[in-house]
Formats: sequence, C-alpha cells, structure tokens
Amino acid sequence: MRFMQHKAFDNKNILVVDKAPKDQNDHTWCFWENKPGLFEPVVHHQWQQVHFFSSYYSGLIDLSPYHYKMIRSIDFYNYVLQEALKHPNVTFKYGNVEAVGNEGNRGLVIVDGERYTADHVFNSILFTQPTVPAGKHYLLQHFKGFVIETKEPAFNPMEATLMDFRVSQQHGTTFMYVLPVANNRALVEYTLFTKEVLAESEYITALKKYISSYLNIQDYSIVEEEFGVIPMTNVKFVKQLGRVINIGTAGGQTKGSSGYTFQFIQKHTEKLVASLLKHGTIEDEESFMGKRFKFYDTTLLNILSNNTMAGDKIFADMFQKNPTERVLRFLDNESTLEDEINLMGTLPKGVFMKAALQEIFK
Ligand SMILES: Cc1cc2nc3c(=O)[nH]c(=O)nc-3n(C[C@H](O)[C@H](O)[C@H](O)COP(=O)(O)OP(=O)(O)OC[C@H]3O[C@@H](n4cnc5c(N)ncnc54)[C@H](O)[C@@H]3O)c2cc1C
Repeated sequence: MRFMQHKAFDNKNILVVDKAPKDQNDHTWCFWENKPGLFEPVVHHQWQQVHFFSSYYSGLIDLSPYHYKMIRSIDFYNYVLQEALKHPNVTFKYGNVEAVGNEGNRGLVIVDGERYTADHVFNSILFTQPTVPAGKHYLLQHFKGFVIETKEPAFNPMEATLMDFRVSQQHGTTFMYVLPVANNRALVEYTLFTKEVLAESEYITALKKYISSYLNIQDYSIVEEEFGVIPMTNVKFVKQLGRVINIGTAGGQTKGSSGYTFQFIQKHTEKLVASLLKHGTIEDEESFMGKRFKFYDTTLLNILSNNTMAGDKIFADMFQKNPTERVLRFLDNESTLEDEINLMGTLPKGVFMKAALQEIFK
C-alpha cells in the first residue's frame, strides 16, 4: 500500500494493471513443447499423435519428443494469480489504462486519470493498430471454435487433428483443427489466414458442416465458443520506447507466418527477466537468429499474401517431406542452419526463391 500512496514503483515493487479481474475462460492456448514447461501444472490436455489432412498428403504424425499442449486461460490466470499473491511486492489494480509513456527517466502509466510512474513499464496493450507501409504484408489469422459435447463417445482423446485442409480453400489458407479432451468432448476450430474476417454466420456454417460431414457427429451440444483475430504480418512492432517495453502481441511476439504467440511470449519474457537481473535494465536487441527467422516469415507471408502457392500445399510438403521434429523446431525459431537448408530443399524452390528475392530487393 505504501507504493500505492506514492504511486511510484520500481523493479522490486510491481503494480499489475488490467481492465477487470481475469475470471473468464476467454482463450484456449495451444503450443508444443519437448519437456515439462513453466505452466505444466495447468496443462489441461496434451497429445503426442496428431492427424494432418489435405488433398496432397494425409497422415497420423508422431510428435515425439514433443507434445502438443492445451492450456485453458482460466486455469492459467488462477495459477499466475495464486503465485503473485505469495509475493507482497506485487499489487493489482483494475481500471482503464488511458496511456503509457515516459516522464523524465521513468515510465508513466495513466489509469482512470491517475498517474503512476515506475522504473519500467511492461505494456501489452496495442493502443492503435500498426499502419502498414507499402510493400509490407498484413494478413489476419481469424478463427471461431466450438467446444462440443456428445452423449455417446465420439473422439479418441489421444489423437488431435492439428490441421485439416480438406475444407474449401476459396477464401485462402483455411483449415479446421480438432482437440479432443475426452471421448465425448472436443474443441473444433475453423481457422483462416486471409486479409478480411468473415461474417459470423460463415464460421458457424463451416463448423456445423465439418462436424456433421467430416466428424460424422449429428447429435451434440455446443458448450463453449471462442473467436479470435491475430495479426500475421512483417510490419515492425515498436519494442521499446524509453522505459516502456512492449510485450506480447503488442511487442511483436506473434510469429508472422503462423500466428503462434504463447511460447514466443514466454521466451521473450525470460529474456527480459535475464536482462533485468544481469544489467538492471532492458537490453532487447534482435539477434542474428531473430532476423533470420523474420526473413523466413516474410518470405512465407509474401507467398500467402500473393497467393503464389496455396498454404495447404506448403504445410503438406513440410510435414510429409521432413522429420516432424525439424518442422516444429523451424516453426519455433529454434532450427539450425542445416535444418533450414534441408527443409527449404523440400519446398518448391522457384516459388520460394522468387518470394525471397522480391523481399530482399524491395
Ligand atoms: C481466442 C484466442 C486464442 C488464441 N490461441 C492461441 C494458441 O492456441 N496458441 C498461441 O500461441 N497463440 C494463441 N493466441 C494468440 C496469443 O497467444 C494470445 O492473443 C495471447 O493472449 C496474447 O497475449 P498478450 O499478452 O499479448 O495479450 P492479451 O492476452 O490480449 O492481454 C492484454 C491484456 O491487456 C488488457 N487491456 C487491454 N486494453 C486495456 C486497457 N485500456 N486498460 C487496461 N487493460 C487493458 C486486457 O484486458 C488483457 O488482459 C490466441 C489468441 C486468441 C484471441
């Protein structure tokens, strides 16, 4: 409370501000990992076998040594909150953040008209959508999901469907995924990588058609729904302005070519904490590796945006012609140069070379 009165925070005394308490299960986060991670206690379900379907290649893929893991956001929020409550130097405040910025050599946050300063401000609010300069790509990954329940067993909870491209590709790269957590309960999600979102009815029609035609389930109830839009872009997000450090999607942690964000946020946060512990300040320069993966993302975005090769064919080639471990390392920005050369060798060289050269000489 001492710090609340002074409204001045430092690296050892932390104020967490959000609009409202996190008491809803508003997201389902999925990611792969090859060892128990920081949030293992709240992993809701995990799979080592996943199906891939497309008109080019279909197969049941063994992910080992990786597991595809699912975390329900409500479990994550409660877990993090319980941990935070053990630390008296962490205070929570609920209100509307109107602005973040700098005041002298301190970070500044304005919450409902009140000013708070701190050594550092870690900001996950995207106050304005980034402007897209000419030549940059900006696709949307948009998705709607139903958690469905059936009276009779209808799923194998040991096998998920990572990507099912057998649905219409008329809007662009489009797939379903199915994540069964019990033999009568699964999250079924309709995902598209396109420039515009669809009308709500289109997601619903596609989901219902898939559930009845591909999953062969006629009798079910929808027990939860989710909808989301994630930027897939090579537009640069501002990472740091003085004492304000942008984190999460607002800090550019969404992978441009896949939309996966959860694990990139954890890795970025680890890097920021290590820097604070070592230097007392934030040093968050993009590494050579980071730049290399940004270039791959840009090349893939070029192909998807210009439609020079269909997304279902790209993912089919990747999974069919490479060891799964290599693909997952690559999508995690953790592959070696040798991995990348081998992986590139399995994709149509003409299309990728042209896109890469276009991006280099822009
Ligand atoms: C439905 C959905 C499902 C997703 N699934 C996956 C997945 O499976 N795997 C994956 O890797 N990524 C996934 N993502 C992408 C990404 O992991 C999530 O968007 C993730 O929540 C991003 O974290 P963040 O901290 O950047 O933003 P958020 O989680 O959105 O956090 C921003 C916070 O800021 C608060 N806030 C915003 N404005 C204000 C304001 N003015 N004042 C006060 N507080 C404010 C919000 O209440 C929120 O708590 C998903 C995204 C969505 C939307």
